[in-house]
Amino acid sequence: MKPEHDERFGRIVKDYLERPGGDYAELLRRGQVSSPEGVDPEEWRAEIRAKARADKIRVITIRDGDRAIAARQRTVPKDQELAELTDAVERTEVLRGLAERARAVGHEIDRWLRHDEESIAFCARCPARVYVRFENATPVVDGEGLDEACPG
Ligand SMILES: [Zn+2]
Repeated sequence: MKPEHDERFGRIVKDYLERPGGDYAELLRRGQVSSPEGVDPEEWRAEIRAKARADKIRVITIRDGDRAIAARQRTVPKDQELAELTDAVERTEVLRGLAERARAVGHEIDRWLRHDEESIAFCARCPARVYVRFENATPVVDGEGLDEACPG
């Protein structure tokens, strides 16, 4: 993996684990966030809702076992709906294609972590990584998970 992608990969993992701006900031940035382990989900929900109310932002929160999930309710302007949908579908297709490419050399990619225009993933059986940045018609892809065989 190129050094600049390696650095971005590390930064995304770190941000995800540490959530520097807290869960509410994470919600605003990513559009969705789940309560951390060991935190009372009901208290967490109430806190997120109070902050959203103060900012006049619409959020929905749901309970998922011993966790809670908060998601931002966005209204997409009618003329942008199709473009957004097309974008989301293309993105999903690219990620699926990359997971297949990783599988061809033995890795198992079963989930992606999204960070704005970037997505990262680890192999479920070894430390191999995959990095993607969606910036132009052709996404930038990198990672040993795409080319090196899985030892796992
Ligand atoms: Zn692997």
